Amino acid sequence: MISSRKFWQALLVPTTTADLEHMLRKAALRVTRPRVAVLSAVRAHPHADTDSIVGVVRRELPKVSRQAVYDVLRALTETGLLRRIQPMGSVARYEARVGDNHHHLACRSCDAIVDVDCAVGVAPCLAASHAHGFTIDEAEVIYWGLCSSCSPDPAAEQNS
Ligand SMILES: [Zn+2]
Ligand SMILES: [Zn+2]
Repeated sequence: MISSRKFWQALLVPTTTADLEHMLRKAALRVTRPRVAVLSAVRAHPHADTDSIVGVVRRELPKVSRQAVYDVLRALTETGLLRRIQPMGSVARYEARVGDNHHHLACRSCDAIVDVDCAVGVAPCLAASHAHGFTIDEAEVIYWGLCSSCSPDPAAEQNS
């Protein structure tokens, strides 16, 4: 039985440009160089913010505008190829691990963000204790604390 973490790591192994183009077409998006570059950048740098993504994309496409990267991020997020998360007090960050509604650990000190699988199942925490008539399709869970590097507890460091 493959764990969902392993499953996603397998999906995120280095991908060819042809694979990325295929993903765009499957999402009914026209293949453009900025779209391929942004998708590739986010897959290589999970939870990167927009500034970092612009930096990575410009290594490949030096003339791409910040606005173009914003527009691509929005299009890729709207079509479900990317997921946007925005921890409280942080800028928006993007990741290519979509569709599993995984949770995040966020460090209050250094802004580190780490994926964490759901504690209870595949689509975590979608069963609210009281849905108030809402049809719920997403739950966003962020565990706040200190990462092992920032934690004053030496025992926590050894566990990392
Ligand atoms: Zn930290
Ligand atoms: Zn994540």
